[in-house]
Amino acid sequence: MTKQFDVVVIGGGPGGYVAAIRAAQLGLSSACIESQAYADAKGEVRLGGTCLNVGCIPSKALLQSSELYDQANHAFVMHGIGFESIKMDVATMMRRKDNIVGQLTSGIRALFKKNKVTLLPGHGRFVGRDNDYWQVEVSAAAGNEIVEARHVIVATGSKARHLPGIPVDNKVICDNAGALSFDAVPKRLGVIGAGVIGLELGSVWKRLGAEVTILEALPDFLGAADLAVAKEAWKVFTRKQGLDIKLGVSIGKVSLGKNGEAPVAVEYESNDEACRVEFDKLIVSVGRVPYTEGLGCDDVGLKLDERGRIAVDEHCHTNLENVWAVGDVVPGPMLAHKGMEEGVMVTELIAGQSGHVDYNTVPWVIYTHPEIAWVGRTEQQLKSEGVDYRIGQIPFAANGRALGQGDTSGFVKMLADAKTDRILGVHIIGNNASELVAEAVVAMEFGASSEDIARICHAHPTLSETLHETALAVDKRSLHF
Ligand code: FAD
Ligand code: NAD
Repeated sequence: MTKQFDVVVIGGGPGGYVAAIRAAQLGLSSACIESQAYADAKGEVRLGGTCLNVGCIPSKALLQSSELYDQANHAFVMHGIGFESIKMDVATMMRRKDNIVGQLTSGIRALFKKNKVTLLPGHGRFVGRDNDYWQVEVSAAAGNEIVEARHVIVATGSKARHLPGIPVDNKVICDNAGALSFDAVPKRLGVIGAGVIGLELGSVWKRLGAEVTILEALPDFLGAADLAVAKEAWKVFTRKQGLDIKLGVSIGKVSLGKNGEAPVAVEYESNDEACRVEFDKLIVSVGRVPYTEGLGCDDVGLKLDERGRIAVDEHCHTNLENVWAVGDVVPGPMLAHKGMEEGVMVTELIAGQSGHVDYNTVPWVIYTHPEIAWVGRTEQQLKSEGVDYRIGQIPFAANGRALGQGDTSGFVKMLADAKTDRILGVHIIGNNASELVAEAVVAMEFGASSEDIARICHAHPTLSETLHETALAVDKRSLHF
């Protein structure tokens, strides 16, 4: 007999697995179709999508290992800690990363069991509609079946964008998947694209000893960040850490060595000059594209936008009745937490509740060292929108905890409306910025003013005092700077 569900989610990444769990929590019968894309050695489907398998989680595991190695080499000495010799075992680092991924992906399986979500392993494709039910085919090695759903949530995510003439083999020329699994530190690493992946993974391999050259097409560095943060990051990454970042380049021919092996030669133009450089590995990190292959969009008339994303309204509803889409496959920032929030919103709407996502308070984090994190608008955005604002900016150099930790790089910058004092944006570059930004997100969600933060007691000594001090600085009354 055909299986019927209230909700069928296609895709088991952060947008999809969270939607499936929330639907079940709300008393709806819920199933999640996940393809074999990230199957383990036994062929078992692994949930968690890009994020858990080849994205957020493995990259942060490697960032942590490489950061410790870097600290052991450069920072421990100031505490009086010395070693005879320090060695890096890449295989152990990778095993640790793989174990973390395995633990989290099987954790989602357990959550599915606990919440009574049915996992349907296989590739999902719309085939049609019969009265109130959408019919979705699940095709797997074991065979095909058709399941029926009152509501379908598409959460098929994204895949790495590749460039014409640059064949990614994930051995020498890698996208994110290959770049997270090098078996040794390359001597010379090339990266195309100075975006989030380029900077995070470039940092990992630089800390471990690679010479890293990042080739970026745009003339500006980190254009999405506040200009002051981008300038500070440029200074630290290039001058202090030695990342060789070339802006405004135009990539030309890319050719592999004999038998498709390293070195890979990259020709590019920079400042009207023709250049050629050889690398042992090349990472291509030039953005991601929505993934809708084999989904059957045309068969049922599911509308895509001009960039191939599933077109949705502000509640993630598509042009088809009871078909919703969330996460990387729809417009908006390609961030795991944004997808998860959309998954929750959609299932709550399906259950008759009032789900909502506030896109103005989605935080951004870049896990370099120092970390970069922000929420809300940048100063350049406020200027171009003609908004009258006040600024507070305080460096971590004035913070006792930062000094104790031996890491005083960066600052906090707060932008508040000149008339109402409502916080419009908070930008942080510094140690633990990823955690510090949460306070700013909460404040903005509650419509806080800079004075609200200025009047809140912050523990001493903590890095969060710099946020407090920055709020005071908006009103030109900082106490410690
Ligand atoms: P995905 O995670 O892409 O999941 C989609 C799932 O759907 C996949 O498992 C796929 O196999 C499955 N699927 C696709 N089509 C079908 C089909 N037809 N049938 C069945 N299954 C299907 N974001 C952050 O917020 N923080 C970070 O630190 C961060 N770091 C990242 C680092 C890297 C290297 C990369 C590449 C990305 C990173 N991201 C990060 C982005 C984050 O991974 C994505 O935003 C997030 O995974 C999107 O979730 P999703 O559920 O929309 O899609
Ligand atoms: P990105 O959009 O962050 O950066 C891509 C960069 O490549 C841009 O600077 C772009 O100008 C450049 N570029 C594009 N075409 C180029 C070309 N032909 N030559 C040279 N440079 C070129 O994309 P990404 O780094 O690939 O990451 C993809 C997405 O994954 C991100 O947008 C983000 O949403 C997500 N992600 C998030 C995190 C995080 O939250 N910490 C980490 C990694 C990835």
